[in-house]
Amino acid sequence: MRGRPPEATFAWPLTLAFDLPQTTRLKGKGPPMSAVHYTQMLSELTPHTRLHVLQLLGTCPGIHFTSGRRSVKRNRLVGGVKGSWHIKGRAADFTGSTDALAHAARHAARGRVGDGCTGPEEVLIHDTGSGVHLHVAW
Ligand SMILES: [Zn+2]
Ligand SMILES: [Zn+2]
Repeated sequence: MRGRPPEATFAWPLTLAFDLPQTTRLKGKGPPMSAVHYTQMLSELTPHTRLHVLQLLGTCPGIHFTSGRRSVKRNRLVGGVKGSWHIKGRAADFTGSTDALAHAARHAARGRVGDGCTGPEEVLIHDTGSGVHLHVAW
C-alpha cells in the first residue's frame, strides 16, 4: 500500500501533536475558549473536515479555531450565508494575525488529506460582522 491513511496520523479520539491554546478569545472579548470547547468543536466536524482542520492547526500554530459546525439558527445569528458549509460541519473559521491568516490560507489551499482529496471548496479571509477571520470549507 502506498502512503499511510490519514487515520494513522490523526487518530480519533485525539492525541494531539501540538499544544491547544489554553484560552482563545474572539476579538479580545467574550468568554475564553477552553481546550475542552476546542475539542468539542473538532468532534462536531465531519471526519474529513476534521483531518484538514487538524492538519492546518498543526502546520500553522499562529491561528485559533473559533467556529465549526453551526445549527441553522446559530448560522443565521452570526450572519452566515444560507446553505453555509458550517451547517454541514464542513467549514471552520480561524482567527490570528494578518500574517498568520495569510500563511494559513496558503496552506489550506494546498493541503490534501488522503487519496481522493481534492482540496478545499472555499478559502476566504473576510469579515462577516464578527471580525476578520479565515474561513475554509472542505
Ligand atoms: Zn480533503
Ligand atoms: Zn466560516
